[in-house]
Amino acid sequence: MIIGTFMDQSKRPRAEAWFRYADDLGIGPYYLDRAPESMRPSAMPLDGIDTGAKMSAEAPTLRKTEDGAPGKPVTLAARTPAGTAAPPAIQRAAGPSLFEAADRIEGDTLERIRTDITPTCTRCKLHKARTQIVFGVGNPKAQLVFVGEGPGRDEDEQGEPFVGRAGKLLTQMIEAMSLRREDVYICNVVKCRPPENRLPEKDEIATCSPFLMRQLGVINPKVICCLGACSAQTLLETTQGISRFRGEWFDFRGAKLIATYHPAYLLRNPAAKGEVWKDLQKVMAYLGLQPKRR
Ligand code: URA
Repeated sequence: MIIGTFMDQSKRPRAEAWFRYADDLGIGPYYLDRAPESMRPSAMPLDGIDTGAKMSAEAPTLRKTEDGAPGKPVTLAARTPAGTAAPPAIQRAAGPSLFEAADRIEGDTLERIRTDITPTCTRCKLHKARTQIVFGVGNPKAQLVFVGEGPGRDEDEQGEPFVGRAGKLLTQMIEAMSLRREDVYICNVVKCRPPENRLPEKDEIATCSPFLMRQLGVINPKVICCLGACSAQTLLETTQGISRFRGEWFDFRGAKLIATYHPAYLLRNPAAKGEVWKDLQKVMAYLGLQPKRR
């Protein structure tokens, strides 16, 4: 993070504290648009993707995280595929795991999970405002699964994840990886739209995420790509800010897991596309995918 050379030094501690805070919230890259040209992400396929957002000099509006008390932390070591040095460990929230025995079911299938949820699910308060359950879409044998946060308005209307503006950007990201939407599987932590697109709350995540775990168990992908802090923090059982571990590899129940910024964040902060493209390139290298010819 760059702090201006000509800054009034009495203001420096306050500015540094703000930058650390921004990093914790995962909005650090927002500030890259104020960095010198040489510090900006290099050209990448995602650069050609119009996020429909103009760079703004104002701070982005963020939805608050609902992190509870982390308790006594335990470490969750990140892993890199073969040969490279392991990145720093991240802190895992203490307490009972969200994913105990309930998510391992003999002979499970995606259809069975969908049936178990039921179209009339009332397990959590999200049922009150939703139109329909948004279960997941894509290849049931996908090598790559993208996990978002929860359906938005378009998804709630259409019953399919990532079909709105952020979804269109995700589709373009997938295509930049030389894949099609049908090749991957796309789902969310919670299956019902949080009202006003607020973040899913802890109890809602706790109620719904066992279904996500079952989906991941059935699909058994090689790579899980978490889109945004909600899914990354849920699956890694951490309360740390995504910017601390974005782009690092983790072992997750026989799969590799990597977290990157949410496409909705990229719509507001196009400067972060370079970071996301780097993360996607790691996934491509791991899966042996060649970038699409432009
Ligand atoms: N954002 C998400 O996290 N999921 C969707 O399905 C759409 C937008």
